[in-house]
Amino acid sequence: MRYSLLFFGILLFSISLIAQEKYIYCGKLIDGVGSKVKGNHTIIVEGNQIKSVQKGYAEAPVGTEIVDLKDKTVLPGLMDMHIHIEHETNPNRYLQRFTFNESDVAFESAHFAKVTLMAGFTTVRDLGGSGVNVSLQKAINKGITPGPRLFTCAKSIAVTGGHADPTNGAKKGLYDAPGPENGVADGVAECKKAVRHQVKNGADLIKITATGGVLSVARDGKRPAFTEEEIRTIVETANDFGIHVAAHAHGDEGMRRAVAAGITSIEHGTLMSEETMDLMKKMGTWYVPTITAGKAVADSAKIENYFPAVIVPKALEIGPQIQKTFSKAYKKGVKIAFGTDAGVFKHGRNALEFKYMTEVGMKPMEALKTSFINGANLLGIAEQVGTIEKGKWADIIAVKDNPIDNISTLMDVRFVMKDGKIYKNE
Ligand SMILES: [Zn+2]
Repeated sequence: MRYSLLFFGILLFSISLIAQEKYIYCGKLIDGVGSKVKGNHTIIVEGNQIKSVQKGYAEAPVGTEIVDLKDKTVLPGLMDMHIHIEHETNPNRYLQRFTFNESDVAFESAHFAKVTLMAGFTTVRDLGGSGVNVSLQKAINKGITPGPRLFTCAKSIAVTGGHADPTNGAKKGLYDAPGPENGVADGVAECKKAVRHQVKNGADLIKITATGGVLSVARDGKRPAFTEEEIRTIVETANDFGIHVAAHAHGDEGMRRAVAAGITSIEHGTLMSEETMDLMKKMGTWYVPTITAGKAVADSAKIENYFPAVIVPKALEIGPQIQKTFSKAYKKGVKIAFGTDAGVFKHGRNALEFKYMTEVGMKPMEALKTSFINGANLLGIAEQVGTIEKGKWADIIAVKDNPIDNISTLMDVRFVMKDGKIYKNE
């Protein structure tokens, strides 16, 4: 008799292991479906999917793994549409171009990926590195190293001397002139080739620098880079591969050209005019503000010798303006997707952006949705992920307080599940 009971117990235990069910008891639940914060709920996760979401605390079968988050607020995994997973700001950043091997970048990027995931960001769009980002994505997907679900552009595409020309500021003769293979393209033919090279190298999307940028070793930070015809070529070539184009832009003319040419998202958008906002609404273009980066570069520029001298005036001028532009674009009804430019500041502090968004009038629930709902829509994965609903991928996080009352609680994520696997539970 005792043996048969034992056998029965082992059998039940085995069944539950095979099914890999987890019962998550949520004190409060923001599921991303409605706009209300819900009370006690149970999320049942099977494998990498949400099997069901039930009111109250459902009784779990014997042997089922129970995750007790009764004193926490549970929400969908956060998404950041603009990060740089390979790098992180530091005063030696420019020297590292000459001292770092790819393997150094690889180890560091694996660390940044882990930090980002532990901060509750389960999906991110990487907008520019060297190609190590593609290898990192493979390692994350294989489960070799923990990290968010990574969509990457591999290397940004720039014009000669533009933002993301990797040889800017280096002495003559140190490098060969970079071409489309290295993400530098002038003229329609090279633009086509540059896109195809990035796709060949494993890019999931294309990033261009439509204007000058703050952190490149170049005088200009906002003038237009590509012609409209060049950008249209880039968009058409990318669309042929079924992938989208993100455009870095600070100045208005470069931004206008990119929007008119049909890019999917404007990054930073610092000096965006009302006309460009109207055009974005007409074209359905996303705006990814990166307020956090703007504030961070302006702060770093005040530290002596933090940046090369040519960068300092650009950082002080451009950085602090983004929050105001965000506020205007939001009030005008431009579609906004959450993005921070993490890497320009410390990885893992991405949730600061929520604070800056709500400071200038966006409601906390709406700010949250720019992350998991709008992020998923921008990436074209809203059918699979972005809400806590039956059938979706189980990307679930939890924080101590209700973020609607205390937005800063998102800086202290206590529980992280990605694809049904628990990475953090404090
Ligand atoms: Zn960036």
